[in-house]
Amino acid sequence: MSKQQPHKARKRFGQNFLHDHGVIRRIVACIGPKKGQRLVEIGPGKGALTEGIISVTERMDVVELDRDLIPILKVNLFKFPDLTVHEADAMKFDFTSLKTDEQKIRVVGNLPYNISTPLIFHLLSQADVIEDMHFMLQKEVVDRLAARPGDSLYGRLSVMAQYYCSVESLFIVGPESFDPAPKVDSAIVRMTPHKTLPYPVNNIKTLEDMVRTGFQQRRKTLRNNYKGVLDNEDFAALEIDPGLRPERLDVEDFVRITNYVLNKEG
Ligand code: SAM
Repeated sequence: MSKQQPHKARKRFGQNFLHDHGVIRRIVACIGPKKGQRLVEIGPGKGALTEGIISVTERMDVVELDRDLIPILKVNLFKFPDLTVHEADAMKFDFTSLKTDEQKIRVVGNLPYNISTPLIFHLLSQADVIEDMHFMLQKEVVDRLAARPGDSLYGRLSVMAQYYCSVESLFIVGPESFDPAPKVDSAIVRMTPHKTLPYPVNNIKTLEDMVRTGFQQRRKTLRNNYKGVLDNEDFAALEIDPGLRPERLDVEDFVRITNYVLNKEG
């Protein structure tokens, strides 16, 4: 890859470019790409991670929003004719269009931190075409994704991610591995969508509403947060103590609440 790049990192696109080859190798080893697999990278930037992956898979799709980076990326990766660059906003990108009959896609990316949470929600809504996802994120976001009931960071993001996926926090990456250096630590997360959902809901929008409502005030009890939605009789039928705080409920509890409310509404 050429050393001299004329591109100046843009804050609005959340650009922090990885330059630590040891970290890049470690991420690629965690992903474990295989020849012929359908790897899709969000925000390839100048291709630091892309190169490590496409060297193995020989083909790859990448989605990059900053059009000024695309010629740089193409020059850096000119050796790989089967690199397909989509100049697009990953938040609006239809990832289902990349799946084939034979293969689901594997999604990777050192994500722009300013949009990482809505981007993850966008991907979760297409989880049925995704084999797995490996992302570099702000460490705190990884901790939220992987948090278990009772953990201080357990909340809406943890429940929704774990509804669709198993989540593993893999390793931490310090700011010095990037240019420019971010202010916070980063971490690599692996999210593997469940082949069959262990606790399916009948309506995903209602689950999202119930999780949002449940966590609207973390320090308050379920009785408080679900006022007007669930009364004492409902809590008794659900066998959930209304005096608990929302962080005590696991994914299955939120699913039971959702399906109960849907049933009640008829
Ligand atoms: N993968 C590169 C690396 O590791 O050096 C760059 C990572 S940088 C943190 C984030 C990348 O995402 C940038 O290339 C940025 O232009 C791109 N990006 C930002 N917003 C995006 C969006 N909505 N859709 C697609 N790419 C986006």
